[in-house]
Amino acid sequence: MAEKCVLCDGKLEKKNVNYNIYGKSIGKFPASVCDSCGEQWFDEDISKKIQEKERKLGLFGLSRETKISYSGNSLIIRIPKELAKFMNLKKETAVVIYPEDKDKIGVSIK
Ligand SMILES: [Zn+2]
Repeated sequence: MAEKCVLCDGKLEKKNVNYNIYGKSIGKFPASVCDSCGEQWFDEDISKKIQEKERKLGLFGLSRETKISYSGNSLIIRIPKELAKFMNLKKETAVVIYPEDKDKIGVSIK
């Protein structure tokens, strides 16, 4: 029975994929890859291996590059899903945003 992508219902295929973090490949790992949207999933033990490698390389972290977009008259910043999951952020989560510096915005969960 073929697994299905939870995002788009596409077909998942087992593949070895290059795992990139901050634009650097840290090696190839077996993953389930969606043939439609390209999303990749790793098994729990593979994820652990990747994490170990990230820690070893000093790359472990949850920062991502994102871009500011428009929503009506406001500017919005997308929070990557890994970070949202880690921080337990959901739609309607109350946060406080504030300038930390001219080039840094702080976001605190209420
Ligand atoms: Zn998909």
